[in-house]
Amino acid sequence: MSFTLELLKQGREALQQQHQSLETQKLYTLRIGNSGMYSEGKWYGQCPRRVIARYYGIQTEDTSGHRDSKFLMFDGGYTNEDSWVQLLTKAWRGNVLRETECEVNTYIQSAEAPVPLSGRPDILLTDKLNQPVVGFELKQVSSIWTARSVLVQGVPKLSHLCQALNYQILLKAPAYELWYTARTKYPNFKFFGKLLFETEGETAVPAHLLQHCEFNDKGSIKALHPFMSGYKMELVDGKLVVTQMTRDFVGEPQPTIITLEGIQDFWGEIVKCIKSDRLPEAPESVDVFGNRLSYKSCDYCDAACQAACQADPKELGDWLTHLNRA
Ligand code: SF4
Repeated sequence: MSFTLELLKQGREALQQQHQSLETQKLYTLRIGNSGMYSEGKWYGQCPRRVIARYYGIQTEDTSGHRDSKFLMFDGGYTNEDSWVQLLTKAWRGNVLRETECEVNTYIQSAEAPVPLSGRPDILLTDKLNQPVVGFELKQVSSIWTARSVLVQGVPKLSHLCQALNYQILLKAPAYELWYTARTKYPNFKFFGKLLFETEGETAVPAHLLQHCEFNDKGSIKALHPFMSGYKMELVDGKLVVTQMTRDFVGEPQPTIITLEGIQDFWGEIVKCIKSDRLPEAPESVDVFGNRLSYKSCDYCDAACQAACQADPKELGDWLTHLNRA
């Protein structure tokens, strides 16, 4: 291995150890980063089984040959946040708080002992008196599928919105936004039978997306340029409504299936599962607007979790035992 790669490997191992020791301190704590919704007996967003595994300190991260690639992707997420902070600090006259400066900690009440719930919002802007003004949940776009969904189709991820809404409520922030940033140019080739854009011609592309497209001399879309696509969040009668924002464009408000009650019930039901050894079901495969997805969370779950679920355990304790063995 080259000298440089060896140095980076050692750095990664040291960072992982630091991460592990922080994880140990958060044992038996639920994380807002693993948010979802529970409504009418169904789970949405993050898989509740994985949320419980993390509560017990069981790492379910990818152990395949793509592990290093995933680390690069996570690094991209951190540098994305750095870039946002750099820009906001130049422009905002109040305070720009980062995750360690606006960490939230609360408890989910249960018939037995309350269960801690904590999380680190990405950025909170406060005024000069340190009162919350607006919070941002930031995601870096690392795949062409995500680019297609969050920009072209205007569909943010359900678990990301649930996470952001939890933060908004706990921070008592009057406004909150979820922002996707893509720092890569994506070609408009056919992947798995689908194009990035449903239509190819310049005239058929919605006006607000034209600014993000590069065309060839025949008028077909050649590539999608790096972009930012944000979603303003508003609670209307307990239901979340989102409005897409990109450069020079603000869309129409769209009601989602997410409710305030649903995101709060998610934690309450998780705690009930933990206390009663009940194994929760897998999450529904629907998007934020209730449309059925073409894939299931289980298809993209890591090998250890899949193996534990395929062993067909009946109770939570059995599933955790299978997971520990995997
Ligand atoms: S395989 Fe499916 S049900 Fe099992 S932990 Fe993963 S997402 Fe959840």
